Amino acid sequence: MTVFAHIRPKSAARGLKAFVVVVCLVILGLEGWRDWNEREQETARIRAETLNLAKSLVQHAEDTFEVADALLVDVVDRIETGGVLPNAVKRLDSFLVDRVQSLQRIKSLSVYEDDGFLLTSSLPGHRGKVNIKDHVLFQHHKASPSSDWFFGPLIRDPLGGDWVLTLSRRIDKPDGSFGGVVQVSVPPRYFANFFGRFDVGRQGSITLIHKDGTLLSRYPYIERVIGSNISNEPRFQAAVGSGAYEYVSPVDGIARMGGYYRNHIFPIGVLSSVSRDEALANWNREFVFRVVVISLLVATLATLGWALSRELRRREEVEAELSVLAVTDGLTGLANRRLFDKQLETEWLRASREKSPVSLLLVDVDQFKAYNDIYGHQAGDECLRTIAKAIASAARRPGDLVARYGGEELVVLLPDLDEAGATAVAEDIRVKVEALRLRHEASFPSRILTVSIGSATRVPSLDRSRIGPADLIALADDALYKAKQDGRNRVATARAA
Ligand code: GH3
Ligand code: MG
Ligand code: MG
Repeated sequence: MTVFAHIRPKSAARGLKAFVVVVCLVILGLEGWRDWNEREQETARIRAETLNLAKSLVQHAEDTFEVADALLVDVVDRIETGGVLPNAVKRLDSFLVDRVQSLQRIKSLSVYEDDGFLLTSSLPGHRGKVNIKDHVLFQHHKASPSSDWFFGPLIRDPLGGDWVLTLSRRIDKPDGSFGGVVQVSVPPRYFANFFGRFDVGRQGSITLIHKDGTLLSRYPYIERVIGSNISNEPRFQAAVGSGAYEYVSPVDGIARMGGYYRNHIFPIGVLSSVSRDEALANWNREFVFRVVVISLLVATLATLGWALSRELRRREEVEAELSVLAVTDGLTGLANRRLFDKQLETEWLRASREKSPVSLLLVDVDQFKAYNDIYGHQAGDECLRTIAKAIASAARRPGDLVARYGGEELVVLLPDLDEAGATAVAEDIRVKVEALRLRHEASFPSRILTVSIGSATRVPSLDRSRIGPADLIALADDALYKAKQDGRNRVATARAA
């Protein structure tokens, strides 16, 4: 074997690259996981906060209607016991005005007769001018004997103007028949103003919703959306049940996250929500900052790792090259004497264990001094290279080694080959060189360049005192001498021991 298998040590450079990639991936993975986790926590915190706010605000709305209902109960009681004679109505007038004045959240408290006409109200001046017999609340009480409150739909205030939320009760005549209605109006703006006291950011909103999906009030207050129904909005199902919601507002298109809480007494619920972007703005800012820092870190690490790995690779290649050069002959590209000696020692030991033969060929160019003299030293060098190739092509089993032994002498190590085999290889080499037909005027009689070969084969013994590698070389050398003596361009074989 003459061509060295290209020496490729296990590359530390590749290991370093893999390590850098793993470290970068671990950093990115950990950071990604941490960010995702933090975002989840932040989202959960916002949801809990908005849901708590919704809970307290719906409680406040419940309190408002409880107060309103207490008034209704009081008025119904007065009418049912005191009747509606002019004197009683007069007393009722001032009672209504007194009670409502002290209650900011109530716009008006009114009593309607069994024909739907206004009997009296906390807002004076409407008596006899207003009739609500076509209103749902009136028809409900007229039709139902129930004395329970009725949470009416959002209506335009019968006493003029704005939207109002209504709560009403039926008045019974002494004989139990329908005697009219007491009704209280709560303006949606009251809730909007109250909700406005709580901080939901610049783009947050708080909405009071009827369980049927009707928007009863909202902060920020937008008149045109009051009374609209949002139960059909596919992304908005707050009317369904209490809980956390993420949705795009059908009112203003802002993506919000919030909590909805439903009241168990009145058919209302409160949805308190903040703008997603606004609520996560802090987190987003920190996230961007972290992404930049981590990216820089990873990029620096990767660049350094890559540069280091390139340098390592370069050194490895230089080292590999050097280690090849250290055992290569510069002129012929064959193994040098040092590698040959090492290999001979190795093969000798193996052969002595396996009790197999080791053969050696010493090849010497005939009349080479004369060749140099005639054609010049450079032509001599070129000639040596050509011969080296020819010899290398004749010894190609794995384990065979062709080396430059010194000057114009080459050596062929043939492990595990017997004498006959070695002689055949030697003859093959001789013929191959001859076949090159390199002109050599001083070579008689053929006038072409030839080689003489000494061949020796021995089965080594572990006992070095009997025969060692050096003896094999000496034997081959003797045989070579004999080949020269016998007239050159021939193979001579050392006698068997
Ligand atoms: P022979 O072996 O047939 O007896 O004759 P020879 O002329 O070859 O004799 P010898 O082996 O003693 O000569 C060796 C010559 O080989 C001496 C030197 O000029 C030549 N030589 C040795 N090494 C090199 C080399 O590297 N390059 C060249 N061009 N010539 C070399
Ligand atoms: Mg010689
Ligand atoms: Mg010679």
